[in-house]
Amino acid sequence: MAKQQAQKTEETYEFKTDVKQLLDLVTHSLYSHKDIFLRELVSNASDAIEKIRFESITSPELLEDNGDWKIKLIPDGKGKTLTLSDNGCGMSKDDLINSIGTIAKSGTQEFIQKLKESKGQADLDLIGQFGVGFYSAFMVAHRVTIQTRAAGERGSEWSSTGEGNFEIKDFPKLTRGTDIILHLNDDSLEFLEESSLREVVTKYSNFVEFPICMDVERDEYPNDKEGKPDYSAKPTKKVEEEVLNSSEAIWLKSKSDIKEEDYKNFYKQVSHDYTDPLETIHYSAEGAMEYKALMYLPSKAPANIYTPEAVKGLHLYINRVFIMNDCKKLLPEYFRFVKGVVDSSDLPLNVSREILQDNPQLEKINKGLVNKLLSTLKEMKDKRSDDYLNFFREFGQVLKEGLHYDQGNKEKISDLLLFETTKTSDGEFKSLKEYIEGMQKDQKEIVYISAKNRAQALNSPQLEVFKSKDIEVLLMTDPVDEYILPQLTEYDKKKIVSVQKGVEDIKPDKKKEKEVKDKSKKYADLLTTMKEKLGDNITEVKFSTKLTESACCLTVADDPMNAQMAQMLKSMGQAVPEEKKILELNPSHPLVDVIHELFEKDKESELFADYVNLVYEQALLTEGSELKDPLGFAKKVSDLMVKASRAS
Ligand code: ADP
Repeated sequence: MAKQQAQKTEETYEFKTDVKQLLDLVTHSLYSHKDIFLRELVSNASDAIEKIRFESITSPELLEDNGDWKIKLIPDGKGKTLTLSDNGCGMSKDDLINSIGTIAKSGTQEFIQKLKESKGQADLDLIGQFGVGFYSAFMVAHRVTIQTRAAGERGSEWSSTGEGNFEIKDFPKLTRGTDIILHLNDDSLEFLEESSLREVVTKYSNFVEFPICMDVERDEYPNDKEGKPDYSAKPTKKVEEEVLNSSEAIWLKSKSDIKEEDYKNFYKQVSHDYTDPLETIHYSAEGAMEYKALMYLPSKAPANIYTPEAVKGLHLYINRVFIMNDCKKLLPEYFRFVKGVVDSSDLPLNVSREILQDNPQLEKINKGLVNKLLSTLKEMKDKRSDDYLNFFREFGQVLKEGLHYDQGNKEKISDLLLFETTKTSDGEFKSLKEYIEGMQKDQKEIVYISAKNRAQALNSPQLEVFKSKDIEVLLMTDPVDEYILPQLTEYDKKKIVSVQKGVEDIKPDKKKEKEVKDKSKKYADLLTTMKEKLGDNITEVKFSTKLTESACCLTVADDPMNAQMAQMLKSMGQAVPEEKKILELNPSHPLVDVIHELFEKDKESELFADYVNLVYEQALLTEGSELKDPLGFAKKVSDLMVKASRAS
């Protein structure tokens, strides 16, 4: 406990051990983010005002003055001091001894430990978001003096260099409240400048409820004849008190008090976006976890939306004190396009970013926000389909990532998905539910085709059989589709399958199956030789039930591991290997019999080799891939055209 020395007017006390340790670290190891001292002191002042304002509701005599609440910054260039003055509750002498200097906050030890482990390296990470509280004053000052008076008490002065002791003496302070006088270090003199103070206040304390004021000196020009300022005249200096913060935590106001325009302006402030938001979600959670959220869905996706690290997220406030930008733990990555703020009164202010990362309360907020967003999107989709379509065009691909990363909400996310299909026109979308409503009576599964774009999907030979049977096929043309497909295996108890699976599973065709079986047996040698000739380009040559008009097509080996592997490699920044393809042949196409004849005649002939290559190359062309040797291909086709014409 504090050691008291026998002195009448001035008493010296010793800091408690962990306060000493903390002070030592604060003064000697923390250099970056030292501007947070202002956030901490302003937040204390704001708490003090809140406290007296609350008490004065029942005891108006406590006010002593008119309750014109404010926090004032007073830089003094000559004395090299910065004073923070508030008209809050103030402190009695006992409060001073108990609050400042002897009692370290819970979590202090943990913080000290972390700081020591990081050997000062982690100040950026650790300190930037840590509430070091009042002691952060020693990051910028070599002496701190507190002059304070609580209502109905005598005033006191506390002073310390932060080195082990502090002194307390009586101080005749006239008004209730607290002045904190920082004797700034030479390397912190920027905090005497108007521009720095303005910047730090807007950065950290813009939405503190009470005005943060400062006297600002401005040049004033006399008016000319027309009553306008005459800038050619000699100006006089004029000092005016200015409010530096916006004072308004719009998210704490009730919806009915907020104009559409205010919502939009605030969006522009938090998002740095110039366009209006598509949707504003103002949400207040009550019960186990209390917090307010003001979230926005932008109308356009930012250019860097696919570089998740670069995308800014929600800002976190605790009781309107700014804690951090872009708090990734508030929302999962697939909602990274959401902008806005979350303000919680249940989180402790003195938490480090790391502690915040594993905070179970934050997890709860995260869950609540995700539910709110999913239900808002559902409502948009059901009631305002045009807006939803706009949203989906911009952010649908990102939302789809949720299927992979948020298994718990898979169903809700699936409900929100939209797809073009073989039966919609370009740019027109259907939900999975709508697809099911249009399914054929005996169709059991939902079918999709993956392709680079709509045109390529529609031209794929693999669709032929579905077209002939009038089965609708979803077109999966987003790059992200192939990564989420392994997750999207079912909807409303119906399997979601690739066209590659063949129509036999969706609508069995016994005749075609038999044809495939017979030809596979009869032409087994041909298939093996073709595979040998094509080498590593493909894994297999086989007959297929999928084709009705085309002679051949390429398909991907049906192995979900491939897609997952590719996703992993991609996320690690590695090159994704080319997928192994299967060459499938149409057993009823005459070209197959022609090749078989050439094979029987002379399987070593150049003509047979050319034919095999041409079959493979046309399969590549129909799936939209590039040919390795387009000139060679053109030459082979020309030669054949000449031959064919001469022969007829
Ligand atoms: P915290 O604010 O997290 O409690 P601090 O170290 O910042 O920790 O402050 C310790 C205590 O000092 C506060 O809880 C409060 O009781 C008192 N205090 C600090 N600044 C002021 C102020 N401007 N007015 C009144 N009391 C204050």
